[in-house]
This record gives sequence, structure tokens and C-alpha cells, in this order.
Amino acid sequence: MSREEAAALDAVDPLRAHRDQFELPEGMIYLDGNSLGPLSHAARDAAQTCIGDEWGRGLIRSWNTAGWVDLPQRCGRRLADLLGAAEQDIRVADSTSINLYKLLVAALALQSGRRTVLTEAGNFPTDLYITDAATRAGATHGVRRVAFDEIEQAIDETVAVVVLSHVHYRTGARHDMAAVTRRAHACGALVLWDLAHSAGAVPLNLAGDDVDLAIGCGYKFLNGGPGAPAFLYVAPGLQPVLENPICGWFGHARPFEFDDVYEPAAGVDRWQVGTPGVIGMRSLEGALSVWDSVSISDVAEKSAALFDGLAAWIDGPLADAGFELVTPRDPVRRGSQVSCRHPDAWPICQALIEAGVIGDFRTPDILRFGLTPLYLRHVDVWDAGARLAQIMASGRWRDARFQAQQRVT
Ligand SMILES: *Cc1c(COP(=O)(O)O)cnc(C)c1O
Repeated sequence: MSREEAAALDAVDPLRAHRDQFELPEGMIYLDGNSLGPLSHAARDAAQTCIGDEWGRGLIRSWNTAGWVDLPQRCGRRLADLLGAAEQDIRVADSTSINLYKLLVAALALQSGRRTVLTEAGNFPTDLYITDAATRAGATHGVRRVAFDEIEQAIDETVAVVVLSHVHYRTGARHDMAAVTRRAHACGALVLWDLAHSAGAVPLNLAGDDVDLAIGCGYKFLNGGPGAPAFLYVAPGLQPVLENPICGWFGHARPFEFDDVYEPAAGVDRWQVGTPGVIGMRSLEGALSVWDSVSISDVAEKSAALFDGLAAWIDGPLADAGFELVTPRDPVRRGSQVSCRHPDAWPICQALIEAGVIGDFRTPDILRFGLTPLYLRHVDVWDAGARLAQIMASGRWRDARFQAQQRVT
């Protein structure tokens, strides 16, 4: 593909107008929206209104007058289409890590007659650590970790809960949500899906796929802002029988009766714990409003084209540069990213950042590029490929200044 052909794709892109809703630094090609989504005008406006008017002038009245108390539901409503789930089955609360802990401990209590928690070796670290910790808390289960491709056949009658990332953070490989869930249910197991790299990236149908439990991030593809609150989903049939192990007052049926005894709220409201971080929720709510007019099938289609655009550089001009594409080429088997392995991934990533292309590095040797169709153009991906080819041809990445390590990659 030439740059002109990429520009021609942009001219007919049904999502092209959305780029103007974001505040992208001039001249930068941002391929890290899968790690921290960019600022939208809507998120900025919501945060400013929240700080200046609601907090600044409304003060405590804003819990009622600005509806702060309803933010977990309001944000949940805006996620319904993206998750393929009913709004009353979704809440926004806490972080992905904490939601995982809450839901997993609850699911294990329900499945106390079974021994095993099944997860994937190489799953995102928080998922591994929290799965171990939640299992220790109950003391009746043991964790079994198996490879990506072995998950389905490893599900048997001993499995209490399967804990999986739908899209793998390093490789971008995607599990078949419907098939894994079906297999688990056939064995009497529950599945808890981590949708950190799925929500806003790939079409989801939690209700249609009969998903039990799901959690996910607000700050990645959803663009809610650094550390934005996370979401959780609980299937309607499980809502009355699962108990939140962190039973704080915001999950009480009537928090403002200040009762001495905990009584869980009905439905998914019991999954709230304490006072929500209102500023973060308001930013997220603003960011989610951008999605109101977006068709996720347009997003998926454009993501596939962006992938092909970048893969063409790796297969073509960069064929001899030592990159190995690790993300599956089949669009339904992957999320919205391109990951390649290279022994010098770290300095190459740093040299790219200096050249205005922000991707990221995942230890030990993965160069990762997030594909975010709402604001990325085909020419951006073309230019990124060209700059990478230039860095490799010149050997500029070998420069000493690109070797230094940093705390956050
Ligand atoms: C990013 C990510 C998380 C992050 O969890 P936090 O609690 O927000 O830090 C969790 N799981 C997966 C799979 C992720 O990619």
C-alpha cells in the first residue's frame, strides 16, 4: 500500500469524524491507546464541570443535584451496547484488580464443592496474583495454569471458575468467548472474563454468549483517563446468589440509613464498596459519550484494515529486520493491536517514541502497537511503519541514549 492509498481509505472511513473529538498532540502518532486512551473534549468538559461547578460550587449538594450518586449506573448504561449486555447488569466501580477479587471470591464461595481455579499461564500479572490470593482466601481451591491453546480441553468437572483475559495483553490473541463459556457450563464451571483489552476494541455479546462474570478497564480503549474506574458485569441469574466479600456501605441496600448490619443491595449495586471517585467517574462518563454514535462493527472493520496496514510493513520493507509478528492474523482470533517480537524491542521502542510514534514495550521482547480506530488514521499507521523502517535501516536505535530503562514501560 502507498501513502496515497492509505489516504484514500481515510477519505471514505465512516469513523473519520471521531478523530476531531480527541485532543491529540500535533505531529504525534499515538499507538498506545490500548494502555492509556487519549483525552477527548467530552472527558475534559465533564471533568472541568465536575471540578469547577459540581464540586466547586455545588459542594455536597452535588451528590443529589448533579446525580453523583448515580454515576456507577450512568456509566454502566453507556457501556451496555459496547458489552452487549443490559444496563442493569453492569456497574462501574473500583479498579479491574479489585473487581476481579470481589467477583472471584464470590464465585468460589458458590462453587465450594469444586477444587480448581483454571487460568492461563502468562495471563496479565494482576489476574494471576489476584487469582492466587482469592484462592488462598477461601483455602478450598487450587489454581491450575495452562497454556492459551489448552484452556478448553483443561476444563473439567473439578473446575470451579475459569479466569481468563479475553484478549491477551502481550500477544493480542483472543479466546472464543462463546465456545469457552459453553464448554465451562457443560462441566458446571463458571467463567470470569477480563475484558481490559476487549471493551471498545472488539464486538462483545456478553448476554448472547451467556457470560457469567466480566470485569474490565475504563482507561484503555474506553479513554476514561489515567486510573479511570473499572466496570463489572454479573449475569442476572447470579446476581442474587453472589455475595461481595468487600461489603462496604455503598453496596448496602440502604446506605443512608447507616444501619449497624450489612444488607446487600439488590442486583449489581451490591458490587459497589465505598464512595466512588467522582472526578474519575465523570471523566469516564464524558469519554463514554463519544461511543454513543459509534458502531463497533465499523471499529472492528477498521481495526482489521489498520492491522493489515502495519503488518504489510513488517512482512515487506521490514522483512529482514528481525521482527516476528506474534498477534494472530485472523481478525476474529485477535484484539485490536499488533505485537511483534524483536530481541532489541526496548531500544527500538525508545527510538520510535523519539520519532513521534508512541507504542510500548512488554518485557522481555515485545513491541506493542495499539490500534484505536476512533482516532487513528490509515496514514498514521502508514507513517508509523515508514518511521520504523527508517529507524531500522539507519540503525539509529543502537544509540546509547535509547538503552536506559524506565520505571513505567
Ligand atoms: C490493564 C489490565 C488490567 C489492569 O488492572 P488495574 O486494576 O486497572 O491496574 C487488568 N487486567 C488486564 C488483562 C489488563 O490488561
